[in-house]
Amino acid sequence: MPTHQEIEVPGQGKIKIPTGLFINNEWVEPVKGETFDTVNPATGEKLISVAHASKEDVDLAVKAARKAFKTTWGGNVAGTERAAVLFKLADLIERDAEKIGALESLNSGKGVRIAREADVADTVACFRYYAGLADKVFGQTIDTFGSEKFVYTLHQPIGVCGQIIPWNYPLLMWAWKVAPAVAAGCTIVMKPSELTPLTALLLCDYAKEAGFPPGVLNTVPGLGATTGDAISRHLDIDKVAFTGSVITGRRISIAAAESNLKKVTLELGGKSPMLIFDSADVEEAADWTAMGIWFNSGQDCCASSRVYVQEAVYDKFLAALKKRAEACAIGQPSDEKTSFGPLISANQRDKVISYIESGKEQGARVVTGGQKWPQSNGGFWVEPTILADVKHGMKVVDEEIFGPVIVAASFKTEEEALELANNTTYGLAAAVFTNDARQMTRVSRALDAGTVWCNQYALLHAGVPFGGFKQSGIGRELGTYGIEAYTQVKAVQQNLSQKMEWPI
Ligand code: NAD
Repeated sequence: MPTHQEIEVPGQGKIKIPTGLFINNEWVEPVKGETFDTVNPATGEKLISVAHASKEDVDLAVKAARKAFKTTWGGNVAGTERAAVLFKLADLIERDAEKIGALESLNSGKGVRIAREADVADTVACFRYYAGLADKVFGQTIDTFGSEKFVYTLHQPIGVCGQIIPWNYPLLMWAWKVAPAVAAGCTIVMKPSELTPLTALLLCDYAKEAGFPPGVLNTVPGLGATTGDAISRHLDIDKVAFTGSVITGRRISIAAAESNLKKVTLELGGKSPMLIFDSADVEEAADWTAMGIWFNSGQDCCASSRVYVQEAVYDKFLAALKKRAEACAIGQPSDEKTSFGPLISANQRDKVISYIESGKEQGARVVTGGQKWPQSNGGFWVEPTILADVKHGMKVVDEEIFGPVIVAASFKTEEEALELANNTTYGLAAAVFTNDARQMTRVSRALDAGTVWCNQYALLHAGVPFGGFKQSGIGRELGTYGIEAYTQVKAVQQNLSQKMEWPI
């Protein structure tokens, strides 16, 4: 199979993109010559076929990553050098934002403007943030027995890291993984989602141009059960960092434990609650809620997928949210105006539709939406949907839908609101809308979630940690916590004068 192929990208014409494996800064064919197809979610048609990395290919990538870790990267380069390549990579991505955004939009279905102005821009910001941290990884000096001893800690890179990412933010999830790992001095074997591998492949050439030495970033596209599993079980990978579903996170943890007990960090799903109290500005709350659930067509781990509204403003809030659902900019991904594109696959669309059907059967009221977008043609759109008057025990309330469906119910008291919000196995994010500062503080503390947004929603920043309570994950990404996740602490205890008197 060819390692590069031409593809027609809306707004960019025909461009040549890599579709092979990237190992040691070279494009290579997979050992077994296998491929898989990636599909255009807006048409349902095949876009291009991509190399499928086997266990043997993963092994070659790990060998390259190990060699780089021991020689040109890891503890062998100063933080300032790591910073320099990361700053350079950010500049190169920014330079080609149009092209990268267009390819991201084509492969993932998100509107091209959103891909460029949110996904690419946030990717650049993430690289700049971690470039800034690369030479600021410090240990501590610890006073134990005064001048007799000198004790300090080193924060050293963990080593070779497997990174497995999902399809909903292909580029941004790539940045969240690559930037802190490289900043810390780790080397990488990256597996993008089989549904959206194209930008992760394209950016390998950018990493090389930015000055990443061979073997620092290796990319092995492939399916989860083969390539992903080979990474999770590899005996010479020191850590696996994963973003995706709870079920896959569990499989990866088991594989990691059964092989070499490699370290595992997990960013998993969510069913994030919004609490709207009657003192809140209802129109504003509806704007943030709409953004929280319908951005990226609801395919967002921290989507505002459950909303609980205080009784007195419930009907008013639902009417305001319905207006926003019906004003979503649904359209073709290549249209600059589109902010609501198709779901990623036919499977995902069918899964979302079957959740809506089960919601109706279990007594939810459809306020708006509830079906495929009539102009979908071969694409995978589902209408922005509100299901009201729901109760715990319904599948649409208890399970992550990962589509443009929000469920709503009313509550009477703060205590009841908290009970409803925390009644879930997830704990990724939550929100509180109130004009009472004491209530905001109280409720924020009581919510079981890794992020609590107050009078806003879904705003992320490279400097602010992100991750889950409960089954939403293990560990944190972003911020200083994000780079710590790629380091390990070594305590060095030096004896300056103490004599050991034997026997003790
Ligand atoms: P998924 O778990 O199906 O796949 C994610 C990745 O794991 C893909 O690259 C896939 O190939 C790989 N994979 C699948 N099976 C594997 C296995 N047995 N071993 C190793 N790798 C395997 O998830 P998805 O459908 O791509 O993404 C949607 C899910 O991701 C949702 O649950 C969503 O909430 C979650 N998500 C979470 C965050 C977060 O930061 N918490 C961000 C984005 C998405």
